Amino acid sequence: MALIVQKYGGTSVGNIERIKNVAKRVARTRSQGNRVVVVLSAMSGETNRLVALTNECGEFPVGREYDAVVSTGEQVTIGLLALILGEMGCQARSFMGHQVPIITDSRFGSARIEEIKPDNLMRELDKGVVAVVAGFQGVDTDGNITTLGRGGSDTTAVALAAALKADLCEIYTDVEGVYTTDPNICTDARKLEKVSYDEMLEMASLGAKVLQTRSVEFAKKYDVPVMVRSSFNDAPGTLVCKEDEDMEKVVVSGVTYNKDEAKISVLRVPDRPGIAALLFKPLTEAGINVDMIVQNISHDSHTDMTFTVTKTDYKRALKLVKEIGDKIEAKEVVGDPNIAKVSIVGAGMRSHAGVASRMFEVLAQEGINIMMISTSEIKISCVVDIKYTELAVRVLHKEFGLGKDDIGEEK
Ligand code: ADP
Ligand code: ASP
Ligand code: MG
Repeated sequence: MALIVQKYGGTSVGNIERIKNVAKRVARTRSQGNRVVVVLSAMSGETNRLVALTNECGEFPVGREYDAVVSTGEQVTIGLLALILGEMGCQARSFMGHQVPIITDSRFGSARIEEIKPDNLMRELDKGVVAVVAGFQGVDTDGNITTLGRGGSDTTAVALAAALKADLCEIYTDVEGVYTTDPNICTDARKLEKVSYDEMLEMASLGAKVLQTRSVEFAKKYDVPVMVRSSFNDAPGTLVCKEDEDMEKVVVSGVTYNKDEAKISVLRVPDRPGIAALLFKPLTEAGINVDMIVQNISHDSHTDMTFTVTKTDYKRALKLVKEIGDKIEAKEVVGDPNIAKVSIVGAGMRSHAGVASRMFEVLAQEGINIMMISTSEIKISCVVDIKYTELAVRVLHKEFGLGKDDIGEEK
């Protein structure tokens, strides 16, 4: 008898009809003799609606009460699915994060799972009951409700699979698997049969939101095989697993984009030791993560510094940096939320030269200005105007031969 964790995303539970559809799949898996844990997201659009409500109540609504509000969408879907399963004669019981319990730290809005106590779930599973767990939420050691960051239900599912030593973790979503790029903006995107934890980690952290980054970190750490597939059909999905021999060895394996960042520039700062520390330390202390950083060459002992933060942190960061800017005698602090980061990812880049220049050339041919660049061994990212995101993704996808019709071409 296998233990299977199935996670269904927002679109898959977007209305009662869809939840009934999920119930059929869950009941089928149960009737095949498996022990089943289901993790659900809120109905699609619901978490956005809740976040918008909190924004109407304060300037920077993060913290305990933000989590108390935005976690509620999942309580509705788990209750509804458990009700429907019961009606169908399939015994089921809903669990909020604190009822499992899923214990996290107290970083409201982006808490990390520290421990999952499996006994309550195991007791139900042993009786043949399907456990329906709310994704995205946990509880800290003081009993406060916490949330795991947007897209966090994926992490709930993989962490549960690890804690329960599940045989498989299935992530059901609105696309058939992990593709070479977002299939919703590039119709030529190709579904991958398998992808290694490392490549998936890179793709997720660069914006491929089909899996939350932390869920892939968990999967890699605890060796949980993750199958990403559609909740709307039975097409085979993509297996995220350890790298193996027959995985495709290509230079560029995927193109990603992230519209969730904004950039802040500090102009004409005196160029002297310690300025970067003065600028970034208060941001770190405020819990604001900085992603890309670029510093211009110094002219007449002054320099410009530009960096990116998430859109959620943008207003808070801009306010803070304006205060610091005054102290360090910067001429001006300007912000721009209308940017996107477009990246190419691939383990094969390690051993191939010239990939970056090809990327820059293709973007130039389309008249797309590159505002910032950052590279690592296996990725290159460029910040561009948000209005060019889709165009940039499509031309890069084509340039590196990733399309359905390009198989066998030089990559
Ligand atoms: P869910 O609500 O099921 O968690 P998400 O919206 O979080 O779904 O993630 C699925 C979406 O991820 C897809 O609809 C697709 O637009 C997007 N996506 C981005 N990059 C990729 C990729 N490389 N492969 C598959 N989907 C991707
Ligand atoms: N409902 C949460 C969100 O929209 C968590 C998730 O869907 O994974 O971010
Ligand atoms: Mg998601």
